[in-house]
Amino acid sequence: MPFEIVRNDIMKMKVDAIVNAANHTLLGGGGVDGAIHKAAGPELLEACRALGGCRTGEAKITKGYRLPARYVIHTVGPVWRGGKSGEREQLLACYRNSLALALEHHCESVAFPLISTGAYGYPKEEAMAAAIEAVSAFLLENDMTVYLVVFGRSVFDISRKLFRDVQEYIDDVYAEEHYSSQAMRSRRALSFEEESFPAEDENLYAAEIRYDAAPMAPKAAAEPDWQAMVRQTDEGFSQTLLRLIDEKGLTDAQCYKRANVDRKHFSKIRSNPAYQPSKATVFAFAVSLELTLGETKELLRKAGFALTHASKLDIILEYFIRNRNYNIYEINEVLFQFDQPLLGAGAK
Ligand code: ADP
Repeated sequence: MPFEIVRNDIMKMKVDAIVNAANHTLLGGGGVDGAIHKAAGPELLEACRALGGCRTGEAKITKGYRLPARYVIHTVGPVWRGGKSGEREQLLACYRNSLALALEHHCESVAFPLISTGAYGYPKEEAMAAAIEAVSAFLLENDMTVYLVVFGRSVFDISRKLFRDVQEYIDDVYAEEHYSSQAMRSRRALSFEEESFPAEDENLYAAEIRYDAAPMAPKAAAEPDWQAMVRQTDEGFSQTLLRLIDEKGLTDAQCYKRANVDRKHFSKIRSNPAYQPSKATVFAFAVSLELTLGETKELLRKAGFALTHASKLDIILEYFIRNRNYNIYEINEVLFQFDQPLLGAGAK
């Protein structure tokens, strides 16, 4: 998968380069910087001395020495001063300049920590959004595997509207399911009581009424001709996918990039008519092809899956598809925060 958010210790990442959230001196410090210097050994400090420091937003490269990574890219993030002092632009520059250096040194994989979110005080949610913006723009033009490594358990900022909306949607669906099963139980109880004696239990009716009036999920967008797909019963997942790519007027590369799926993984799917994808991969293509909910269900069915409200992953995807938000990186950010598998993951 070209872009992945992971919870890990960056030192353990088996990548060509890890990025260090350094300070201007490049001579080591606290946080991730200190840990990288400790693990890489004194040769790293020697190499850093020769670099003559680094300005905010810029990046410099050294070897990785005793680290598993071949290179360390040192970048200096902005100190958070409330957000009105150009911090965001500087943070974007850190990611862009680090990625440019990685490309220059032919790195195929790079891992970033959440730059500036420790001692420099940048709010984690905003820093993550900036990182995602810079990395996803880069990946549209370049082939590389980029990891954003989040350290420890972060509590996400529910004040962000997107997270709040998704949480409300999940709550609504759970409420709907709950009322639905409550109403079913009531109906069963009612028919039993009707047989024995005519009951007038208002609560039972109340349950029915509440069910009907329960806060429903937003209405689905107009469903186009997805029944046409159903007719193609002998088509497998791979064939259906290729047909849909043609129908939507996309090239293969456009499609797999928008799905956060790498070229190798895509060619495996392409060349194997019996390919069995993971559910997250099916969703990744549904998002990349901007399918409606009906079409998504149909594509899932081709791979042997069903959309279910028993799964948070499914509910979150339903939320994005109903709202016609097909930004895979934003979806993955939300999935990460809700502890769900990311789209494009499950690459086999
Ligand atoms: P800055 O000075 O840029 O804020 P810090 O090193 O203080 O840099 O923190 C940057 C981020 O790196 C923080 O979110 C911190 O939790 C994280 N971090 C610290 N140690 C590690 C590690 N070993 N692996 C990944 N991330 C780490």
